[in-house]
Amino acid sequence: MASKDALDKELEVEEGEKSTTFKSLGVLDVLCEACEQLKWKTPSKIQVEAIPVALAGNDIIGLAETGSGKTGAFALPILQALLETPQKLFALILTPTRELAYQISEQFEALGATIGIKCAVIVGGMDMVSQAMALAKKPHVIIATPGRLADHLENTKGFNLRSLKYLVISVLTSNIMS
Ligand code: AMP
Repeated sequence: MASKDALDKELEVEEGEKSTTFKSLGVLDVLCEACEQLKWKTPSKIQVEAIPVALAGNDIIGLAETGSGKTGAFALPILQALLETPQKLFALILTPTRELAYQISEQFEALGATIGIKCAVIVGGMDMVSQAMALAKKPHVIIATPGRLADHLENTKGFNLRSLKYLVISVLTSNIMS
């Protein structure tokens, strides 16, 4: 059976986590409001650990389960940096699957709705021409699978990634473990 001290300590940790807010992690008000609208009341563990480090401009390697809030952990610092220095073709998120690319894009669009974020999803199995048109509009964030992105880098005139400021490489945990 756990001792009273251990139980008190556990409660302390939980209370500590509850009192952490997106604002206390350094997230700007407009993005805190976006989190509220998504009913994200408090930051998740990976968000508490990653957001302040990313906001300070550091590189991050994070390991977290599906459903842990890891997309928010990298999307919020990228959106905040974009707010501070608005720029087209600002960030690239590479994902292993098409489904994940669309899910990540949805979260960027939801968190960035009030700041006018423009995303493009570039994945295989979709029309190259409409993707090339989306890239020509120079979105702020590209969410892509590697093969189709390489195809556009080779074949889509005028498209390059020279202006990128943020790169996220998302991999499936099962691939790391195996
Ligand atoms: P992810 O692990 O990034 O795939 O996120 C899984 C789900 O958790 C998504 O539906 C998010 O909208 C949601 N989510 C992310 N961060 C939070 C948070 N701080 N509070 C509540 N839900 C969250």
